[in-house]
Amino acid sequence: MSEVRIISVLGAGTMGHGIAHAAAACGYETRLFDPSPEALAKASQQIEGILAKAVDLGKTTAAEADAARARLTTSTEVWTAVAGADFVIEAAPERVDLKLALMGEVERHVPKHAVIATNTSALSITEIAGSLADPSRVAGMHFFNPVHKMKLVEIVRALESSEAALATVESVARRMGKETVLVRESPGFITSRVNASIGNEAFYMLMEGVASARDIDKALKLGLNHPMGPFELVDLVGLDTRLSILEYLHRSLGEKYRPCPLLAQYVRAGRLGRKVGRGVYEY
Ligand code: NAD
Repeated sequence: MSEVRIISVLGAGTMGHGIAHAAAACGYETRLFDPSPEALAKASQQIEGILAKAVDLGKTTAAEADAARARLTTSTEVWTAVAGADFVIEAAPERVDLKLALMGEVERHVPKHAVIATNTSALSITEIAGSLADPSRVAGMHFFNPVHKMKLVEIVRALESSEAALATVESVARRMGKETVLVRESPGFITSRVNASIGNEAFYMLMEGVASARDIDKALKLGLNHPMGPFELVDLVGLDTRLSILEYLHRSLGEKYRPCPLLAQYVRAGRLGRKVGRGVYEY
């Protein structure tokens, strides 16, 4: 297991900004890449917000927050972000064509010893790894949203992930203060598979008029002790992200994961969740 000093995070969206914050806050030199300057500007603001709040709450000191800021840089070019990196965490949109193209570019510029982790929610990590000359350096590192609050990282063993790569992912996750579980690659791992089923069932109930969105959320929170209702959660995750996950589970695991037509309709309407100001609810 090689020592990790520099982490490169690819994609500065909902997950990428949180992962970059976690990496910088626990001491890694962190480089955040996104092709969109607007996404990088928004991510920097969000990271600033997390750091400022942590100082306000007394969870970190002003000096530690300053040190985290100093460890973080942003870039709109992949090569500057991954050159010299020891560890890469890919958090680009959930599209296999896009991730494969990105991996090709990463491989051209990243050092040979670097471990490459992907935050994909449901895509095949073996397929992503298979596009690289050395697939053994790739593993899944599945964070949860919001990253700075959620304790778990699912570590996913792809067909050819090496023990050394898995151990490096584990040590990075631990240093970020996360608990881990190890999962053999299978569609949706543990959490996305269960969560997508619950969320899809909730949309079917809404479509059938079984109850209102608010009452379905209330029932799961107060009756089943879920910390959030399924619609509150899908608004946070992003309805487009959830739809892609369900489409993949449907293709790979069968009929019971067929995405609810109402979910697809919300996505077509641009109701993608909190990130655009409206999803199931208005914000
Ligand atoms: P997002 O849409 O919020 O952000 C994606 C970011 O990637 C955007 O800023 C976009 O500009 C950028 N991007 C576009 N093309 C890119 C490229 N070629 N290279 C790098 N970045 C590019 O998406 P997200 O919700 O952060 O999801 C990112 C990944 O994390 C997905 O694989 C998703 O399945 C996974 N994930 C999401 C959640 C969640 O709750 N949203 C949880 C766990 C895992």
